[in-house]
Amino acid sequence: MQDRLAEEKERLLSYLVKEGILKTPEIIRAFYKVEREKFVLEQYKEYSYADTPLPILYSQTISQPTTIAIMTEALEPKKGNKILEVGAGSGYQAAILAEIVGDSGKIYTIERISELVDFARRNLNNAGYRNVEVYCGDGSIGLREKAPFDRIIVTACAPKIPNSLIEQLVDGGIMVIPVGPITHIQRLFKIKKEGKRIKTKDLGFFAFVPLIGREGFK
Ligand code: SAH
Repeated sequence: MQDRLAEEKERLLSYLVKEGILKTPEIIRAFYKVEREKFVLEQYKEYSYADTPLPILYSQTISQPTTIAIMTEALEPKKGNKILEVGAGSGYQAAILAEIVGDSGKIYTIERISELVDFARRNLNNAGYRNVEVYCGDGSIGLREKAPFDRIIVTACAPKIPNSLIEQLVDGGIMVIPVGPITHIQRLFKIKKEGKRIKTKDLGFFAFVPLIGREGFK
């Protein structure tokens, strides 16, 4: 199976590069380095490099590789950044970011379902990531004790952009977040904080699981 996975990984990543979805060298390197098969459930391992979301536990999903690629490029992560992820899920997105920020950076990822906190911690440990800390809690209000963050990535859909998250971004910081009604199509936004101003760019339509919490859905 290892050979087949390697072949499928090569096919998927060269497609993402050829289409211009992955374009930044450090991000491409991270996608090659991280083994997605270490973040999916045993029964879905053979589909690790299919360009599709995969079920994890508690009806949540590890996002589709194309979506993760678009979100990671939009986030513009840099070596040494301190990044907050809301919605740890499997830990895969956190691993990609950990590769990019390197040892001088740090990833904080927060997850509301405690079994998924364990799942993400276990996967990140097995894969050898030491610069990621997984928290259990409501990330719709951010992670005040570790703020501010250079970047914030939200991997579940919010009803509106949470104020707490804007507050916890540094000046010049970037946030990527899906926003929209639970049952309808959602839009992915790239937000840049410039002093008191917020610049917003619409990245198009996507589908995410809901962000549930104080500044999310009830
Ligand atoms: N980034 C993940 C995909 C996560 S799916 C990966 O790479 O695998 C979105 C996750 O957000 C789910 O696990 C869900 O439980 C979590 N979530 C939803 N609302 C949340 C909240 N308010 N705080 C933290 N996590 C939340």
